[in-house]
Amino acid sequence: MTLQRNRRLLLKSGGLAALASVMPTSCTGSSPTTTPVTSLPKVDIAENRIIRKVAGLRPFRRSGFVVRADSLCDKTVVHNYGHGGCGVTLSWGTANMALKLSLDTPHRDAAVIGCGVIGLTTARMLQDHGFTVTIYTAALPPETTSNVAAGVFGVTEIADTDQLTGPFKQQLQEAVRFAHCYFQPFVGQSYGVRWVTFYMIGDEPQTQPPDFAVTPELYPLTTYRPGEHPFPTKYAASFPTMIAETNVFLPRLVEEFVARGGEIVVRSFAIREELCELAEPLLLNCTGLGAKTLFDDKELKPIKGQLTVLRPQADIDYCYLDGAKFLYMCPRSDGIVLGGSREEAVWTTKPNLAAATRIFDGHQEIIDGMR
Ligand SMILES: Cc1cc2nc3c(=O)[nH]c(=O)nc-3n(C[C@H](O)[C@H](O)[C@H](O)COP(=O)(O)OP(=O)(O)OC[C@H]3O[C@@H](n4cnc5c(N)ncnc54)[C@H](O)[C@@H]3O)c2cc1C
Repeated sequence: MTLQRNRRLLLKSGGLAALASVMPTSCTGSSPTTTPVTSLPKVDIAENRIIRKVAGLRPFRRSGFVVRADSLCDKTVVHNYGHGGCGVTLSWGTANMALKLSLDTPHRDAAVIGCGVIGLTTARMLQDHGFTVTIYTAALPPETTSNVAAGVFGVTEIADTDQLTGPFKQQLQEAVRFAHCYFQPFVGQSYGVRWVTFYMIGDEPQTQPPDFAVTPELYPLTTYRPGEHPFPTKYAASFPTMIAETNVFLPRLVEEFVARGGEIVVRSFAIREELCELAEPLLLNCTGLGAKTLFDDKELKPIKGQLTVLRPQADIDYCYLDGAKFLYMCPRSDGIVLGGSREEAVWTTKPNLAAATRIFDGHQEIIDGMR
């Protein structure tokens, strides 16, 4: 019986609480293959195939995400924010950490602040462990940063490289390993989660980036020498990974949250003292970049990322990343996502022409050069 089937039975029998206990403790997945890739279908890139340009603000902290317990007026606050460029990836992992801190309190009535991927996974995790949960949020999907995410499973833009050591490294390892296991039963059309092959390409031999090297077993690399792959670069390497299509995954989590008795209240909090007015004794702060103002986190800053989306193309079932040029492509059922860009401390989500031109021209060169 597959985990997916187990999950359906658990839902039917009225509880996912047992899921965590049936999760395998290690999901390292497959080993690298060694077969050269002779050809891949090409993305049909043309100006008249562009359906939208979007931008979002990655909630970045140089020392990494925050998951810790605090107090505010007579309440306990569990923070869960600052996931940079990989909030979808880490979501179930840091939700599980926030759950553990919540279970340490005597409270079982919780308010989750925020309804992006972090708020929703935290809320669902709490529900599955017997908490009554209300979400309070300024915006709901599709109006969140989480909806902009390409949704590829992989750690990126999570902290400065010199922070990927010591206690934060351990926290990150725990979060990403747990999330990698926890995501797997969601694979299937109803959650918009699936496996894809991710190619890293460049003129130097491709190795794991520092963020990946924190949990190297999750990205087993197959390396290709010149002539062994169809990309216009000298080298390539690939690994299997998951993609969670946020346009499917997030509404599905909202639906499940409500079906399990959860309530969503649209409310924006201008200052943290307003949170003291809530009835719930336990608050989960999942406000992403909003925590900068609400909790005066001076380390939080936006890293703007922009995407150009082409009409969907069913035959494309792989992603690529040219790390040196910082250009990536990923297929989703709602379009072919072309990234990337990074603009530090830029607060507008308005797409800009310079980034759009760089993204389009850069990808056109890669795609036209593929054999
Ligand atoms: C271009 C781009 C591509 C990306 N690609 C990927 C990817 O491939 N894989 C990946 O894992 N990640 C990716 N990310 C990163 C990912 O999008 C973020 O890490 C993630 O969305 C953060 O989730 P969040 O729930 O913390 O924030 P958000 O989605 O911003 O949610 C925050 C919530 O809090 C609410 N809120 C905030 N302040 C207040 C307040 N004062 N009062 C009430 N409510 C409040 C908001 O309304 C919102 O509901 C990408 C990001 C960008 C921009």
